[in-house]
Amino acid sequence: MEKPLVWLLNIMALLVWFAVAGVLGVYFEQFWMSLALAAFVLIIKFYWDLYWLNNWLWHSKKLSPTITHGVWGQIYKGIYDVQIKNRVKRKQLSEIIGTFKAGSEALPDAALVVNSKHEIMWCNRLARIELGISWPEKQGVKVVDAIPQTEFVELIKSKRFEFPLEIQSPANAQKILEVRIVPFVDSNLMLLIRDVTRLSQIEKMRKDFVANVSHELRTPLTVINGYLEMLPDAAQLPPLMMNKAIAEMRTQSIRMQTLIEELLQLSRIEASNERAFDKLVNVPQLLWQIQTEAQALNRDKQHKLFFDIAPQLCVYGIESELRSAFSNLIFNAIHYTSDQGVIEVRWQLSKDCARFSVKDNGDGIAAKDINRLTERFYRVDKARSRKTGGSGLGLSIVKHVLTHHNSNLKISSALGVGSDFSCEFSAELTFMTNKPM
Ligand code: ADP
Repeated sequence: MEKPLVWLLNIMALLVWFAVAGVLGVYFEQFWMSLALAAFVLIIKFYWDLYWLNNWLWHSKKLSPTITHGVWGQIYKGIYDVQIKNRVKRKQLSEIIGTFKAGSEALPDAALVVNSKHEIMWCNRLARIELGISWPEKQGVKVVDAIPQTEFVELIKSKRFEFPLEIQSPANAQKILEVRIVPFVDSNLMLLIRDVTRLSQIEKMRKDFVANVSHELRTPLTVINGYLEMLPDAAQLPPLMMNKAIAEMRTQSIRMQTLIEELLQLSRIEASNERAFDKLVNVPQLLWQIQTEAQALNRDKQHKLFFDIAPQLCVYGIESELRSAFSNLIFNAIHYTSDQGVIEVRWQLSKDCARFSVKDNGDGIAAKDINRLTERFYRVDKARSRKTGGSGLGLSIVKHVLTHHNSNLKISSALGVGSDFSCEFSAELTFMTNKPM
Protein backbone atom coordinates (compact mmCIF):
# COMPACT_ATOMS: atom_id res chain seq x y z
CA MET A 1 0.00 0.00 0.00
CA GLU A 2 1.19 3.46 -0.83
CA LYS A 3 2.16 5.61 2.19
CA PRO A 4 1.09 9.26 1.44
CA LEU A 5 3.40 10.69 4.13
CA VAL A 6 6.48 9.43 2.33
CA TRP A 7 6.21 12.10 -0.36
CA LEU A 8 5.72 14.83 2.27
CA LEU A 9 8.77 13.64 4.18
CA ASN A 10 10.72 13.44 0.93
CA ILE A 11 9.83 17.03 0.00
CA MET A 12 10.69 18.17 3.49
CA ALA A 13 14.04 16.37 3.30
CA LEU A 14 14.62 18.08 -0.07
CA LEU A 15 13.84 21.49 1.41
CA VAL A 16 16.09 20.82 4.39
CA TRP A 17 18.85 19.67 2.00
CA PHE A 18 18.63 22.88 -0.05
CA ALA A 19 18.21 25.01 3.08
CA VAL A 20 21.41 23.58 4.56
CA ALA A 21 23.14 24.08 1.16
CA GLY A 22 21.80 27.68 1.07
CA VAL A 23 23.02 28.42 4.65
CA LEU A 24 26.44 26.95 3.89
CA GLY A 25 26.50 28.95 0.60
CA VAL A 26 25.75 32.17 2.47
CA TYR A 27 28.37 31.30 5.07
CA PHE A 28 31.04 30.68 2.45
CA GLU A 29 29.68 33.45 0.24
CA GLN A 30 29.09 30.93 -2.55
CA PHE A 31 25.29 30.78 -2.39
CA TRP A 32 24.51 29.76 -6.01
CA MET A 33 27.50 27.53 -6.22
CA SER A 34 26.42 25.72 -3.08
CA LEU A 35 22.84 25.24 -4.41
CA ALA A 36 24.18 23.94 -7.74
CA LEU A 37 26.47 21.50 -5.87
CA ALA A 38 23.53 20.30 -3.76
CA ALA A 39 21.44 19.77 -6.96
CA PHE A 40 24.37 17.93 -8.59
CA VAL A 41 24.70 15.62 -5.58
CA LEU A 42 20.96 14.95 -5.77
CA ILE A 43 21.17 14.07 -9.48
CA ILE A 44 24.10 11.72 -8.79
CA LYS A 45 22.10 10.08 -5.99
CA PHE A 46 19.07 9.83 -8.30
CA TYR A 47 21.05 8.05 -11.01
CA TRP A 48 22.68 5.82 -8.43
CA ASP A 49 19.27 4.71 -7.19
CA LEU A 50 18.08 4.28 -10.79
CA TYR A 51 21.12 2.10 -11.51
CA TRP A 52 20.27 -0.16 -8.57
CA LEU A 53 16.61 -0.30 -9.56
CA ASN A 54 17.60 -1.39 -13.09
CA ASN A 55 20.05 -3.88 -11.63
CA TRP A 56 17.35 -5.34 -9.37
CA LEU A 57 14.84 -5.54 -12.20
CA TRP A 58 17.07 -7.18 -14.79
CA HIS A 59 20.02 -8.84 -13.12
CA SER A 60 19.24 -9.64 -9.50
CA LYS A 61 17.86 -13.07 -8.58
CA LYS A 62 16.47 -11.54 -5.42
CA LEU A 63 12.73 -10.93 -5.70
CA SER A 64 12.28 -8.88 -2.49
CA PRO A 65 13.08 -5.10 -2.73
CA THR A 66 16.66 -4.07 -1.96
CA ILE A 67 15.51 -0.62 -0.72
CA THR A 68 12.61 -0.52 1.68
CA HIS A 69 12.47 3.08 2.82
CA GLY A 70 11.57 6.44 1.32
CA VAL A 71 10.16 7.09 -2.15
CA TRP A 72 12.45 4.50 -3.71
CA GLY A 73 11.29 1.96 -1.15
CA GLN A 74 7.75 2.81 -2.22
CA ILE A 75 8.62 2.30 -5.91
CA TYR A 76 10.43 -0.99 -5.15
CA LYS A 77 7.45 -2.16 -3.09
CA GLY A 78 5.00 -1.22 -5.91
CA ILE A 79 6.99 -3.14 -8.52
CA TYR A 80 7.40 -6.06 -6.11
CA ASP A 81 3.61 -6.19 -5.47
CA VAL A 82 2.84 -6.10 -9.22
CA GLN A 83 5.35 -8.91 -9.79
CA ILE A 84 3.79 -11.03 -7.06
CA LYS A 85 0.30 -10.41 -8.51
CA ASN A 86 1.56 -11.37 -11.97
CA ARG A 87 3.17 -14.45 -10.58
CA VAL A 88 -0.10 -15.57 -8.98
CA LYS A 89 -1.97 -14.82 -12.24
CA ARG A 90 0.65 -16.69 -14.26
CA LYS A 91 0.34 -19.65 -11.92
CA GLN A 92 -3.47 -19.59 -12.22
CA LEU A 93 -3.18 -19.28 -16.00
CA SER A 94 -0.72 -22.13 -16.29
CA GLU A 95 -3.02 -24.24 -14.07
CA ILE A 96 -5.94 -23.45 -16.42
CA ILE A 97 -3.79 -24.31 -19.45
CA GLY A 98 -2.64 -27.52 -17.73
CA THR A 99 -6.24 -28.51 -16.97
CA PHE A 100 -7.29 -27.66 -20.55
CA LYS A 101 -4.41 -29.72 -21.95
CA ALA A 102 -5.21 -32.67 -19.68
CA GLY A 103 -8.88 -32.35 -20.72
CA SER A 104 -8.00 -32.30 -24.40
CA GLU A 105 -5.73 -35.32 -23.94
CA ALA A 106 -8.66 -37.14 -22.34
CA LEU A 107 -10.83 -36.43 -25.40
CA PRO A 108 -11.79 -39.58 -27.27
CA ASP A 109 -11.11 -37.62 -30.49
CA ALA A 110 -7.94 -36.28 -32.02
CA ALA A 111 -8.04 -32.46 -31.81
CA LEU A 112 -6.10 -29.79 -33.71
CA VAL A 113 -6.23 -26.00 -33.51
CA VAL A 114 -5.43 -24.19 -36.73
CA ASN A 115 -5.05 -20.39 -37.07
CA SER A 116 -6.60 -18.13 -39.73
CA LYS A 117 -3.60 -18.80 -42.02
CA HIS A 118 -4.37 -22.51 -41.68
CA GLU A 119 -1.18 -23.21 -39.74
CA ILE A 120 -1.23 -25.82 -36.97
CA MET A 121 -1.03 -24.06 -33.59
CA TRP A 122 -1.64 -26.98 -31.30
CA CYS A 123 -2.72 -30.62 -31.33
CA ASN A 124 -3.35 -33.33 -28.75
CA ARG A 125 -1.52 -36.65 -28.47
CA LEU A 126 -4.20 -38.61 -30.32
CA ALA A 127 -3.87 -36.22 -33.29
CA ARG A 128 -0.12 -36.84 -33.34
CA ILE A 129 -0.76 -40.60 -33.40
CA GLU A 130 -3.72 -40.71 -35.82
CA LEU A 131 -2.25 -38.18 -38.27
CA GLY A 132 1.43 -39.04 -37.75
CA ILE A 133 2.23 -35.41 -36.79
CA SER A 134 5.65 -35.09 -35.16
CA TRP A 135 5.52 -32.44 -32.45
CA PRO A 136 6.75 -29.70 -32.02
CA GLU A 137 8.44 -29.94 -35.47
CA LYS A 138 5.09 -29.59 -37.25
CA GLN A 139 3.95 -26.60 -35.17
CA GLY A 140 3.27 -23.73 -37.58
CA VAL A 141 3.12 -26.06 -40.60
CA LYS A 142 0.14 -25.64 -42.97
CA VAL A 143 -2.56 -28.14 -42.04
CA VAL A 144 -2.98 -29.17 -45.70
CA ASP A 145 0.68 -30.25 -45.71
CA ALA A 146 0.07 -32.45 -42.64
CA ILE A 147 -3.18 -33.83 -44.11
CA PRO A 148 -2.61 -33.77 -47.88
CA GLN A 149 -5.69 -35.83 -48.84
CA THR A 150 -7.36 -34.15 -51.85
CA GLU A 151 -10.87 -34.11 -50.33
CA PHE A 152 -9.53 -32.46 -47.19
CA VAL A 153 -7.53 -29.84 -49.10
CA GLU A 154 -10.65 -29.00 -51.14
CA LEU A 155 -12.77 -28.76 -48.00
CA ILE A 156 -10.32 -26.31 -46.39
CA LYS A 157 -10.34 -24.22 -49.59
CA SER A 158 -14.13 -24.26 -49.87
CA LYS A 159 -14.58 -23.12 -46.23
CA ARG A 160 -17.84 -25.09 -46.06
CA PHE A 161 -17.58 -26.90 -42.78
CA GLU A 162 -21.22 -27.90 -42.07
CA PHE A 163 -20.69 -31.60 -42.78
CA PRO A 164 -18.03 -34.05 -41.57
CA LEU A 165 -15.66 -35.57 -44.09
CA GLU A 166 -14.26 -39.11 -44.27
CA ILE A 167 -10.64 -39.45 -45.36
CA GLN A 168 -7.92 -42.07 -45.40
CA SER A 169 -5.51 -41.58 -42.49
CA PRO A 170 -2.24 -39.99 -43.68
CA ALA A 171 -0.43 -42.22 -41.15
CA ASN A 172 -2.11 -45.54 -41.96
CA ALA A 173 -3.77 -46.30 -45.29
CA GLN A 174 -5.98 -48.97 -43.65
CA LYS A 175 -7.68 -46.45 -41.40
CA ILE A 176 -10.66 -44.24 -42.21
CA LEU A 177 -10.90 -40.99 -40.27
CA GLU A 178 -13.89 -38.68 -39.88
CA VAL A 179 -12.91 -35.00 -39.75
CA ARG A 180 -15.22 -32.33 -38.33
CA ILE A 181 -14.14 -28.71 -38.64
CA VAL A 182 -15.47 -26.11 -36.22
CA PRO A 183 -14.60 -22.45 -36.92
CA PHE A 184 -14.19 -20.22 -33.86
CA VAL A 185 -12.99 -16.67 -33.03
CA ASP A 186 -10.87 -14.80 -35.60
CA SER A 187 -11.25 -17.46 -38.31
CA ASN A 188 -9.39 -20.05 -36.23
CA LEU A 189 -10.42 -23.65 -36.77
CA MET A 190 -10.78 -26.58 -34.41
CA LEU A 191 -10.43 -29.97 -36.14
CA LEU A 192 -11.98 -32.98 -34.39
CA ILE A 193 -10.92 -36.28 -35.88
CA ARG A 194 -12.02 -39.80 -35.00
CA ASP A 195 -11.29 -43.26 -36.24
CA VAL A 196 -14.39 -44.62 -38.02
CA THR A 197 -12.69 -47.60 -39.66
CA ARG A 198 -14.91 -50.07 -37.80
CA LEU A 199 -18.06 -48.10 -38.52
CA SER A 200 -17.32 -47.92 -42.22
CA GLN A 201 -16.43 -51.63 -42.22
CA ILE A 202 -19.76 -52.39 -40.53
CA GLU A 203 -21.54 -50.19 -43.08
CA LYS A 204 -19.78 -52.06 -45.89
CA MET A 205 -20.67 -55.39 -44.27
CA ARG A 206 -24.29 -54.29 -43.98
CA LYS A 207 -24.44 -53.33 -47.66
CA ASP A 208 -22.68 -56.56 -48.72
CA PHE A 209 -25.00 -58.56 -46.48
CA VAL A 210 -28.17 -57.09 -47.95
CA ALA A 211 -26.78 -57.57 -51.47
CA ASN A 212 -25.80 -61.18 -50.69
CA VAL A 213 -29.12 -62.13 -49.09
CA SER A 214 -31.02 -60.56 -51.99
CA HIS A 215 -28.86 -62.45 -54.46
CA GLU A 216 -29.19 -65.74 -52.59
CA LEU A 217 -32.98 -65.48 -52.45
CA ARG A 218 -33.38 -64.21 -56.01
CA THR A 219 -31.83 -67.30 -57.63
CA PRO A 220 -34.28 -69.88 -56.21
CA LEU A 221 -37.21 -67.51 -56.67
CA THR A 222 -36.30 -67.01 -60.35
CA VAL A 223 -36.27 -70.80 -60.82
CA ILE A 224 -39.61 -71.26 -59.04
CA ASN A 225 -41.21 -68.38 -60.97
CA GLY A 226 -39.90 -69.80 -64.25
CA TYR A 227 -41.68 -73.08 -63.58
CA LEU A 228 -44.81 -71.40 -62.23
CA GLU A 229 -45.11 -69.46 -65.46
CA MET A 230 -45.44 -72.76 -67.28
CA LEU A 231 -48.30 -73.93 -65.02
CA PRO A 232 -51.18 -72.38 -66.97
CA ASP A 233 -50.15 -74.76 -69.75
CA ALA A 234 -49.64 -77.62 -67.27
CA ALA A 235 -52.19 -79.83 -69.03
CA GLN A 236 -50.08 -79.81 -72.17
CA LEU A 237 -46.81 -80.53 -70.33
CA PRO A 238 -45.45 -84.08 -70.48
CA PRO A 239 -45.67 -85.72 -67.01
CA LEU A 240 -41.88 -86.17 -66.95
CA MET A 241 -41.37 -82.42 -67.36
CA MET A 242 -44.05 -81.70 -64.79
CA ASN A 243 -42.37 -83.98 -62.22
CA LYS A 244 -39.02 -82.31 -62.90
CA ALA A 245 -40.56 -78.87 -62.42
CA ILE A 246 -42.15 -79.86 -59.12
CA ALA A 247 -38.94 -81.51 -57.86
CA GLU A 248 -36.86 -78.46 -58.83
CA MET A 249 -39.32 -76.09 -57.17
CA ARG A 250 -39.17 -78.19 -54.03
CA THR A 251 -35.35 -78.18 -54.02
CA GLN A 252 -35.25 -74.42 -54.47
CA SER A 253 -37.85 -73.73 -51.81
CA ILE A 254 -35.94 -76.00 -49.38
CA ARG A 255 -32.81 -73.99 -50.21
CA MET A 256 -34.61 -70.76 -49.37
CA GLN A 257 -35.96 -72.27 -46.19
CA THR A 258 -32.49 -73.50 -45.15
CA LEU A 259 -31.01 -70.10 -45.93
CA ILE A 260 -33.61 -68.28 -43.86
CA GLU A 261 -33.26 -70.76 -40.99
CA GLU A 262 -29.49 -70.35 -40.98
CA LEU A 263 -29.82 -66.57 -41.12
CA LEU A 264 -32.15 -66.66 -38.15
CA GLN A 265 -29.84 -69.04 -36.31
CA LEU A 266 -26.89 -66.73 -36.95
CA SER A 267 -28.72 -63.65 -35.75
CA ARG A 268 -29.99 -65.55 -32.69
CA ILE A 269 -26.43 -66.55 -31.74
CA GLU A 270 -25.16 -63.01 -32.35
CA ALA A 271 -27.92 -61.42 -30.30
CA SER A 272 -27.87 -64.10 -27.59
CA ASN A 273 -27.00 -62.95 -24.11
CA GLU A 274 -27.58 -66.42 -22.67
CA ARG A 275 -24.73 -67.33 -20.35
CA ALA A 276 -22.74 -69.95 -22.19
CA PHE A 277 -21.02 -71.47 -19.18
CA ASP A 278 -23.83 -72.52 -16.83
CA LYS A 279 -24.95 -75.89 -18.20
CA LEU A 280 -22.88 -79.01 -18.72
CA VAL A 281 -23.33 -80.39 -22.22
CA ASN A 282 -23.13 -84.13 -22.79
CA VAL A 283 -20.92 -83.80 -25.87
CA PRO A 284 -20.30 -87.58 -26.39
CA GLN A 285 -24.02 -88.24 -26.64
CA LEU A 286 -24.44 -85.23 -28.94
CA LEU A 287 -21.67 -86.48 -31.24
CA TRP A 288 -23.14 -90.02 -31.35
CA GLN A 289 -26.43 -88.51 -32.53
CA ILE A 290 -24.61 -86.48 -35.19
CA GLN A 291 -22.73 -89.67 -36.15
CA THR A 292 -26.06 -91.37 -36.97
CA GLU A 293 -27.14 -88.36 -39.08
CA ALA A 294 -23.73 -88.29 -40.80
CA GLN A 295 -24.02 -91.98 -41.70
CA ALA A 296 -27.38 -91.28 -43.33
CA LEU A 297 -25.91 -88.33 -45.26
CA ASN A 298 -22.93 -90.47 -46.27
CA ARG A 299 -25.05 -93.09 -48.02
CA ASP A 300 -24.28 -91.77 -51.52
CA LYS A 301 -20.65 -90.78 -51.02
CA GLN A 302 -19.57 -93.89 -49.12
CA HIS A 303 -16.75 -92.20 -47.15
CA LYS A 304 -15.00 -94.08 -44.37
CA LEU A 305 -16.23 -92.29 -41.25
CA PHE A 306 -14.20 -92.65 -38.03
CA PHE A 307 -15.54 -91.27 -34.77
CA ASP A 308 -13.07 -91.26 -31.89
CA ILE A 309 -15.03 -89.88 -28.94
CA ALA A 310 -13.85 -89.67 -25.32
CA PRO A 311 -17.01 -90.96 -23.57
CA GLN A 312 -16.51 -88.99 -20.34
CA LEU A 313 -15.48 -85.67 -21.79
CA CYS A 314 -18.04 -82.88 -21.39
CA VAL A 315 -17.97 -79.08 -21.61
CA TYR A 316 -19.97 -76.22 -20.16
CA GLY A 317 -21.89 -74.53 -22.94
CA ILE A 318 -25.08 -74.23 -24.96
CA GLU A 319 -26.09 -77.58 -26.42
CA SER A 320 -28.05 -76.32 -29.44
CA GLU A 321 -25.17 -74.05 -30.48
CA LEU A 322 -22.53 -76.77 -30.09
CA ARG A 323 -24.71 -79.22 -32.05
CA SER A 324 -24.95 -76.73 -34.87
CA ALA A 325 -21.19 -76.03 -34.91
CA PHE A 326 -20.08 -79.69 -34.76
CA SER A 327 -22.63 -80.90 -37.33
CA ASN A 328 -21.71 -78.08 -39.73
CA LEU A 329 -18.05 -79.13 -39.64
CA ILE A 330 -18.81 -82.84 -40.00
CA PHE A 331 -21.40 -82.42 -42.80
CA ASN A 332 -19.03 -80.03 -44.65
CA ALA A 333 -16.34 -82.72 -44.61
CA ILE A 334 -18.85 -85.17 -46.13
CA HIS A 335 -19.99 -82.63 -48.77
CA TYR A 336 -16.57 -81.36 -49.80
CA THR A 337 -14.70 -84.69 -49.98
CA SER A 338 -14.85 -86.75 -53.15
CA ASP A 339 -16.55 -90.14 -52.95
CA GLN A 340 -15.00 -92.84 -50.74
CA GLY A 341 -12.83 -90.42 -48.83
CA VAL A 342 -11.67 -90.74 -45.23
CA ILE A 343 -13.15 -88.54 -42.52
CA GLU A 344 -11.94 -88.62 -38.92
CA VAL A 345 -13.88 -86.95 -36.13
CA ARG A 346 -12.15 -86.64 -32.75
CA TRP A 347 -13.29 -85.47 -29.34
CA GLN A 348 -10.36 -85.82 -26.95
CA LEU A 349 -8.72 -84.31 -23.92
CA SER A 350 -5.59 -82.40 -24.88
CA LYS A 351 -3.52 -80.78 -22.10
CA ASP A 352 -6.57 -80.30 -19.82
CA CYS A 353 -8.59 -78.81 -22.72
CA ALA A 354 -11.36 -80.52 -24.67
CA ARG A 355 -10.42 -80.67 -28.34
CA PHE A 356 -12.77 -81.26 -31.27
CA SER A 357 -11.45 -81.92 -34.77
CA VAL A 358 -12.70 -83.05 -38.16
CA LYS A 359 -10.10 -84.19 -40.65
CA ASP A 360 -10.80 -85.16 -44.23
CA ASN A 361 -8.77 -86.11 -47.30
CA GLY A 362 -10.87 -84.01 -49.64
CA ASP A 363 -9.74 -81.45 -52.22
CA GLY A 364 -8.44 -79.06 -49.58
CA ILE A 365 -8.68 -75.27 -49.61
CA ALA A 366 -6.19 -72.79 -51.10
CA ALA A 367 -4.30 -70.64 -48.56
CA LYS A 368 -5.82 -67.43 -50.00
CA ASP A 369 -9.34 -68.68 -49.21
CA ILE A 370 -8.72 -69.99 -45.70
CA ASN A 371 -8.91 -66.63 -43.91
CA ARG A 372 -12.16 -65.74 -45.67
CA LEU A 373 -14.02 -69.01 -45.05
CA THR A 374 -15.86 -67.72 -41.96
CA GLU A 375 -17.21 -64.65 -43.80
CA ARG A 376 -20.92 -64.84 -44.44
CA PHE A 377 -21.75 -66.26 -47.86
CA TYR A 378 -18.11 -66.90 -48.69
CA ARG A 379 -17.76 -70.05 -50.77
CA VAL A 380 -14.67 -71.32 -52.49
CA ASP A 381 -16.58 -72.89 -55.32
CA LYS A 382 -20.03 -71.32 -55.53
CA ALA A 383 -21.51 -73.77 -58.01
CA ARG A 384 -20.31 -76.80 -56.04
CA SER A 385 -21.46 -75.39 -52.74
CA ARG A 386 -24.94 -74.62 -54.13
CA LYS A 387 -25.17 -78.19 -55.41
CA THR A 388 -24.64 -79.43 -51.84
CA GLY A 389 -27.40 -77.07 -50.69
CA GLY A 390 -24.79 -74.89 -48.97
CA SER A 391 -25.67 -71.31 -48.15
CA GLY A 392 -22.17 -70.13 -47.28
CA LEU A 393 -23.31 -69.39 -43.72
CA GLY A 394 -22.21 -72.64 -42.03
CA LEU A 395 -18.68 -71.63 -41.02
CA SER A 396 -19.95 -68.17 -39.96
CA ILE A 397 -22.26 -69.93 -37.54
CA VAL A 398 -19.38 -72.14 -36.32
CA LYS A 399 -17.20 -69.07 -35.74
CA HIS A 400 -19.90 -67.29 -33.72
CA VAL A 401 -20.71 -70.36 -31.63
CA LEU A 402 -17.03 -70.86 -30.79
CA THR A 403 -16.55 -67.18 -29.93
CA HIS A 404 -19.56 -67.49 -27.63
CA HIS A 405 -17.71 -70.38 -25.92
CA ASN A 406 -14.38 -68.49 -25.67
CA SER A 407 -12.89 -70.67 -28.36
CA ASN A 408 -11.91 -70.20 -31.98
CA LEU A 409 -11.82 -72.19 -35.17
CA LYS A 410 -8.45 -73.39 -36.46
CA ILE A 411 -8.29 -74.40 -40.10
CA SER A 412 -5.35 -76.11 -41.71
CA SER A 413 -5.72 -77.29 -45.26
CA ALA A 414 -3.66 -78.09 -48.32
CA LEU A 415 -4.92 -78.42 -51.88
CA GLY A 416 -5.10 -82.06 -52.95
CA VAL A 417 -4.31 -83.30 -49.41
CA GLY A 418 -7.32 -82.44 -47.28
CA SER A 419 -8.49 -80.20 -44.48
CA ASP A 420 -8.44 -80.19 -40.70
CA PHE A 421 -10.97 -78.06 -38.81
CA SER A 422 -10.46 -77.97 -35.03
CA CYS A 423 -11.24 -76.05 -31.87
CA GLU A 424 -10.34 -76.23 -28.19
CA PHE A 425 -12.36 -75.45 -25.10
CA SER A 426 -10.46 -74.04 -22.14
CA ALA A 427 -9.68 -76.20 -19.10
CA GLU A 428 -12.21 -74.18 -17.04
CA LEU A 429 -15.00 -75.23 -19.42
CA THR A 430 -13.83 -78.83 -19.67
CA PHE A 431 -15.28 -81.47 -17.35
CA MET A 432 -14.51 -85.20 -17.06
CA THR A 433 -17.32 -87.29 -15.61
CA ASN A 434 -16.57 -90.37 -13.49
CA LYS A 435 -18.41 -92.78 -15.72
CA PRO A 436 -19.16 -92.74 -19.45
CA MET A 437 -22.12 -90.44 -20.17
P1 ADP B 1 -21.61 -73.89 -47.22
O1 ADP B 1 -22.97 -73.77 -46.63
O2 ADP B 1 -21.51 -73.37 -48.60
O3 ADP B 1 -21.02 -75.22 -47.02
P2 ADP B 1 -19.76 -72.99 -45.20
O4 ADP B 1 -19.68 -71.67 -44.55
O5 ADP B 1 -20.09 -74.17 -44.34
O6 ADP B 1 -20.78 -72.82 -46.39
O7 ADP B 1 -18.40 -73.25 -45.94
C1 ADP B 1 -17.84 -72.24 -46.72
C2 ADP B 1 -17.01 -72.82 -47.83
O8 ADP B 1 -15.86 -73.46 -47.28
C3 ADP B 1 -17.71 -73.89 -48.61
O9 ADP B 1 -18.47 -73.34 -49.64
C4 ADP B 1 -16.56 -74.71 -49.14
O10 ADP B 1 -16.09 -74.15 -50.34
C5 ADP B 1 -15.47 -74.57 -48.09
N1 ADP B 1 -15.36 -75.71 -47.18
C6 ADP B 1 -15.96 -75.91 -46.00
N2 ADP B 1 -15.59 -77.07 -45.43
C7 ADP B 1 -14.75 -77.66 -46.32
C8 ADP B 1 -14.01 -78.90 -46.32
N3 ADP B 1 -14.09 -79.76 -45.30
N4 ADP B 1 -13.22 -79.14 -47.40
C9 ADP B 1 -13.13 -78.26 -48.42
N5 ADP B 1 -13.79 -77.10 -48.47
C10 ADP B 1 -14.59 -76.79 -47.42
